[in-house]
Amino acid sequence: RRRWWRAVEVVGEFEEGCATPLGRLRQVVDALVVEMHAGLASDGGSKLKMLLTFIDTLPDGSEEGIYYALDLGGTNFRVLRVQLGGKGSMILSHKVESQPLPEELKSGTSEILFDYIASTLKNFVEREEDDSQQKTDERRALGFTFSFPVRQTSVSSGFLIKWTKGFSIEDAVGKDIARGLEEAMTTKGLNMRVAALVNDTVGTLALGHYYDQDTVAAVIIGTGTNACYIERTDAIIKCQGLLTNSGGMVVNMEWGNFWSSHLPRTSYDIALDEESPNRNDQGFEKMISGMYLGEVVRRVLQRMAQESDLFGDATQNLSVPFSLSTPIMAAMHEDDSPDLERVRQIMEQNFQMPHVPLKTRRLIIRVCDIVTRRAARLAAAGIVGILKKIGRDGSGRSRSKSQRTSVAIEGGLYTGYSNFRDYLNEAVVEILGEEVARNVILRVSEDGSGIGAALLAAAHSLDR
Ligand code: ADP
Repeated sequence: RRRWWRAVEVVGEFEEGCATPLGRLRQVVDALVVEMHAGLASDGGSKLKMLLTFIDTLPDGSEEGIYYALDLGGTNFRVLRVQLGGKGSMILSHKVESQPLPEELKSGTSEILFDYIASTLKNFVEREEDDSQQKTDERRALGFTFSFPVRQTSVSSGFLIKWTKGFSIEDAVGKDIARGLEEAMTTKGLNMRVAALVNDTVGTLALGHYYDQDTVAAVIIGTGTNACYIERTDAIIKCQGLLTNSGGMVVNMEWGNFWSSHLPRTSYDIALDEESPNRNDQGFEKMISGMYLGEVVRRVLQRMAQESDLFGDATQNLSVPFSLSTPIMAAMHEDDSPDLERVRQIMEQNFQMPHVPLKTRRLIIRVCDIVTRRAARLAAAGIVGILKKIGRDGSGRSRSKSQRTSVAIEGGLYTGYSNFRDYLNEAVVEILGEEVARNVILRVSEDGSGIGAALLAAAHSLDR
């Protein structure tokens, strides 16, 4: 019996370490604002890169014509075609084809990668234009969503800073990604040019803004996490004399790398980080995103197993890193059957533990809840941090109390995991207060990362 209590204690200590009371969330909000200022002041001034995108106008619904887009950097590689009807009619049709990128292309040469992308796009375009009989000799504008850190030099060009997410094509680092793709397209005889080179968050913001012009920021919470927002150009100190027509520019925060001593970090988070291939990097992401939540839960269960006789002989089955994925963890958390039958099945199927008793299943759910609640509340603090930075959080004397503000959100964790979504939404209201929160709308921007790039290609197609 003592040993059962030890397992309960492990969970209790973990819960304490993960606590995110309102005061703590406010500290995280303020820390994010400070880091945003620092990242805007100078390159390398903060763990937040605050990358310029050179996007100063976002689509507003008036765009017309046929545009293509490519989306590289998520789980799948996608090609898209969007037909825009202009004011009043919006998106007339859109078609998306998605496929996993062949593994070997992730570590070959940039020429092989761009050749593959250009061929896939060419085949797609030929099929589509045959069907719709809208063949044209006009040079089409392409939006390219490329979700890796890029140092942009204009809307349509940028140099790769480094690869992430398992890609390692060395010769591409430091090269202009858009030019590389254009060369491959020319070789294949594809009459297209890259009109917009963007990050996935920027695509999400573009689609959000297309439907709702009060959209000021976008957040992605899927395998990884990131955010972007519209900043005033005069606040971008590191780029003096930056002039745009709108007086604003979209800034890609790369917020997965945010760090602050106010973040509630436990020994499990530290161990996870130390055993990761990117130590001391992506600290915020490691507490929030789909790649890691299940893994944090697994580490706590493993400790419970070690310190009690909860899981008997099967304890070592919990020792394999990343053997508990976030969707499986979510399925346990969302088990609403009275006897938690789904949790029992999952423990049996995933960890060969057929006889986990009901009270232990309840404890497992508590661990899932702690991890998810912390993640969602920290993400909420991040969103409020952005709103505070741009004066839309209702604080101060600004008229922002009654100003309508939208944030576009995308990513499987938010769209597919209702407990996570509920906790996040609740925490935003808690931090802002009900009166201000009434004017803040969080809105899912489905397929935004790809469609948004096509919209940006449309909005910037006359730029060159
Ligand atoms: P990506 O970020 O890879 O481009 P998504 O935005 O669809 O793609 O996010 C997928 C990630 O979201 C998965 O890795 C998983 O961690 C998480 N996820 C997806 N569906 C769910 C779900 N139902 N419950 C919990 N997490 C989910």
